[in-house]
Amino acid sequence: MKEINIKSEWKIKTDFPIIVAGPCSAETEKQLFSTAEAMQHISQIDLFRAGIWKPRTRPGDFEGKGEEAVRWLVDVKEKYGFAVCTEVATPKHVEVCLKHGVDALWIGSRTVVSPFAISEISAALQGVDTSVMVKNPMNPDINLWIGALERFYNVGIKRLAAVHRGFFTYNETHFRNDPVWQIPFELKRRIPQLPLICDVSHISGNSKLIADVSQWALDLEMDGLMIETHIEPKKALTDAKQQLTPNELNTLLNTLQIKKTSENLPQKVLNRMRQDIDDVDNQLIQQLGRRLEIVRQMGEYKQEHNMTILQMERWKKVLEERIDKGLGLGIKKEFLFKLLQLIHQESIRIQSEINSKKNL
Ligand code: PEP
Ligand code: MN
Repeated sequence: MKEINIKSEWKIKTDFPIIVAGPCSAETEKQLFSTAEAMQHISQIDLFRAGIWKPRTRPGDFEGKGEEAVRWLVDVKEKYGFAVCTEVATPKHVEVCLKHGVDALWIGSRTVVSPFAISEISAALQGVDTSVMVKNPMNPDINLWIGALERFYNVGIKRLAAVHRGFFTYNETHFRNDPVWQIPFELKRRIPQLPLICDVSHISGNSKLIADVSQWALDLEMDGLMIETHIEPKKALTDAKQQLTPNELNTLLNTLQIKKTSENLPQKVLNRMRQDIDDVDNQLIQQLGRRLEIVRQMGEYKQEHNMTILQMERWKKVLEERIDKGLGLGIKKEFLFKLLQLIHQESIRIQSEINSKKNL
């Protein structure tokens, strides 16, 4: 494995997680200022965020206010004393942010998938003294994530952090973006002193889940939280479902349990393993659903072509092959046999149901 030479000078806090909060997008001067004003007394906030250039899936949606909003953002810095940050996706964005004195930049998930884009943005930051947060790419590819971090480190960005915002998935989960925790864990294992901030808003996709996901993230040793916060979430032009009000943010930050790593090590290790088991079980159930759907289609097909439901030769072969495969993985024969029988029984039941309905 290629050696990774990243030594971030962005220090991991030990008393309280790094908190990045603010609206998904800067929409109007009034919206940004009233949000910042309502957040100004929340002492735990380290960085105020707002998206200025918004990557939108479809044209015609709100794409951010551009340079005008960068001015609002630096006004927030002056008026309310927050360090401020925004997303950049092109060298031009970088130039505008540096010109106005934005304190930190983040690279969005859609940008991190493109090494060309990352090369161009990092070239624009050559030798610049600023802080950069790199979100994970949309797809669960740890090397793309590390590659982007390295490109920023190599141009001299020393205050670097990673942001875990979950991954796009076709599978149905109750999150907007699947956390696939093994990937941030692996990043932490490979670059232990790099702060890892969890963007709980983009993982949750729903403000109701944010408190639980935030606690979960801290229990899984994330070093910080990014939480989208809007003065009136329902009216937000982007990500309306996943933003907290400043009051809700305040309550959340005051109720989070900050546990000590060493004392809770057994619990944390156990939680990770449980998370792995949850992931595997979800996949099993999803695959089982797929299998039964194929069985349903086969039932129809056999019915149309006047074929028998049970085809003994095929069943014998399935049993043999699956048991062989399972034995190779150290699974007991008796267990496999029972499991396969159960699945087969359900397949037969589904096909018989199709047959009897059609025969009525
Ligand atoms: C955001 O932070 O508002 C955003 C667009 O994030 P991501 O790149 O994670 O989708
Ligand atoms: Mn957002």
